[in-house]
Amino acid sequence: MHEHLFIAFPGAQFDPLVKFNRSEFIEEAVRRLVKLRTEHGVNTFVDPCPIELGRDVKAMKEVSEKSGVHIVCTTGFYYEELGLPIYWRARAVDEIAELYVREITQGIGDTGVKAGAIKVATGAFISAQEKKFLESACIAHKATGVPIITHTTDGCAGPEQQQLFAAGGVPAHRCLIGHSCCNVDPAYHRRIVDAGSYVGFDQIGLFYYRPDDVRADNIATLVRNGFRTQIMMSMDRNCCRLGKFVKPVTAAYLAKIEYLKSQGLYQAHTYLFTDFIPMLHARGVSQSDVESMLVDNPRRFFAGEFLPKRSPK
Ligand SMILES: [Zn+2]
Repeated sequence: MHEHLFIAFPGAQFDPLVKFNRSEFIEEAVRRLVKLRTEHGVNTFVDPCPIELGRDVKAMKEVSEKSGVHIVCTTGFYYEELGLPIYWRARAVDEIAELYVREITQGIGDTGVKAGAIKVATGAFISAQEKKFLESACIAHKATGVPIITHTTDGCAGPEQQQLFAAGGVPAHRCLIGHSCCNVDPAYHRRIVDAGSYVGFDQIGLFYYRPDDVRADNIATLVRNGFRTQIMMSMDRNCCRLGKFVKPVTAAYLAKIEYLKSQGLYQAHTYLFTDFIPMLHARGVSQSDVESMLVDNPRRFFAGEFLPKRSPK
């Protein structure tokens, strides 16, 4: 529900030290998706890449056709600190909504590829600019019926996003509040599910944000309390990120990445299946719970169906 093929922060394309070989990237992405499909039964891959983070729907189409995995792309921009192109900051709510609706109903540029969801992103606090883009997303949702997938920063402002979606007339069950696992407090997750949205545990394996045993504990708690129908699991991996990091990273972190790379484990898209699901089983989460989270929830989310009745264990 939240993975990436390619990420490029605005400006990375101007770095002469950046090496990028498009056909090698496509080959690696196809290899990863084929592995997911053949070894783990993954048939659909949602890539909510913001427009300005190198979203490349031609590449997505090519990787999808070559791998036999459906790829869902999104319309929508990133958040103010790391995105929001100047030109679009100057646009009004309706102008932004017009772009989103066009990308959903007519296609992205001249590619013929239509967006299947709307991406919304906010910082730790929702800025005035971010609020404007969120309002545009509400208009585009109401015009098209496609769901909204969000980015939150540092596990903050999810409930505030929900309040703004409600004010904009978007039903709670059409929203997936992303990166909620960045917040370790179970009460935070409970607020999101109680308000009726999907909660994204979608940075599984990103150890430098939060440890996975905390993510697994928190998912197990939600499942025990009857909220398995609102949990979305994903890993927020990418097959290629152009250039260097855009936030400061420690030497210890870089060393760990080098180690993982040397083991062929860095950014592995299969980690959810090989490592994390066994951690859930060890905490009493059943295989049927896992299938509900990985199959039923995304299907219901895109179909726009209401949440089933909650049944705590
Ligand atoms: Zn992401």
